[in-house]
Amino acid sequence: MDVPFLSLKDVNAGYADELKAAAARVIDSGWYILGEELTAFEHEFAAWCGVGHAVGVGNGLDALALILRGYKQLGRLREGDEVIVPANTFIAGFLAISENRLVPVPVEPDAASFNLDLASVERAIGPRTRAIMPVHLYGQLADITALPALARRHKLLLIEDAAQAHGASADGRKAGSFGDAAAFSFFPTKNLGALGDGGAVVTNDEQLAMCVAALRNYGSEAKHRHVYQGLNSRLDEMQAAMLRVKLKYVEEDLAWRRHVARRYRQGIRHPEIALPVVPWEERHAWHLFVVRCRARDALQRHLQAHGVQSQVHYPVPPHLQPAYKGLNRARLPVTELLQREVLSLPMGPTLREADVDRVIRACQSFECPP
Ligand SMILES: *Cc1c(COP(=O)(O)O)cnc(C)c1O
Repeated sequence: MDVPFLSLKDVNAGYADELKAAAARVIDSGWYILGEELTAFEHEFAAWCGVGHAVGVGNGLDALALILRGYKQLGRLREGDEVIVPANTFIAGFLAISENRLVPVPVEPDAASFNLDLASVERAIGPRTRAIMPVHLYGQLADITALPALARRHKLLLIEDAAQAHGASADGRKAGSFGDAAAFSFFPTKNLGALGDGGAVVTNDEQLAMCVAALRNYGSEAKHRHVYQGLNSRLDEMQAAMLRVKLKYVEEDLAWRRHVARRYRQGIRHPEIALPVVPWEERHAWHLFVVRCRARDALQRHLQAHGVQSQVHYPVPPHLQPAYKGLNRARLPVTELLQREVLSLPMGPTLREADVDRVIRACQSFECPP
């Protein structure tokens, strides 16, 4: 059998008894939307992130979009404002920005960290720039010292896309606590994954939290009182109950991810396979373990022939997608180079030592074409 890239079945099998008990509790309660499970999860998740407020929403994309929409309602953003976003990322941030009639300004990554390059961010700041939306890509924190300072200096909002970074930390502070607000996804494959869709907005800004809590529920502050033209994007009771179970184990899972990453970094020593650069261990939550290779497709075929699954995150960056053909197509050479070279190796809390050995052996036996 192949070494799976990530087996969700194995992941959830580890908690099956508790998940089933939690599901039974929800079924028997007779209450399925905006109830006690969600309130409890919001408190537990906010406490775990070390922030004042968490608001459960339908998914990670909505979490990002609702932060922007909330800041529009509060008068901090206006239609046509520019938001700086990494060019090298999943498309969600772009979509959240466009959905709010704001303008995404894609900025190059630093090739070593894969995260936003500071000098490029500075150059992209113009008179219409109002926010920076860094992504903690693959689970590694973006520059959480320089970015907040830069945002303060230019009076910009700092909105973290923490969808891949549950548990990444620096000096005891966790992903989601460095900006004005942060978005998390609980898509099943994430480090904290539901058994369906889910997301959360976390923030220390009480006004924003109240605004997003209303927006996600038809703009309603209290029953039959609609203060905003909101939408429907709620984290349901069943998913909140599943997440309460899994939140208890997320640190343990993270420790295993770190162990796997350490073994890969010790075991893979190949002149043509570049390992991720990690100056601070605790700042990486290892959602993905991403290597670079100039013959990436050949490496992927070689791994598959040796029973090792792998994936590419991401083969086509958002600014080159058909959906963004209207966007200024200035070349983004670092992003486009990474897109040709990156390969994600198997990673997850249920990967076994023997699987790790197989991945390392398969990498070591790769003969790179000239
Ligand atoms: C998964 C992900 C999202 C979106 O989450 P969904 O819950 O799938 O909507 C946003 N940003 C990044 C970087 C992601 O990886």
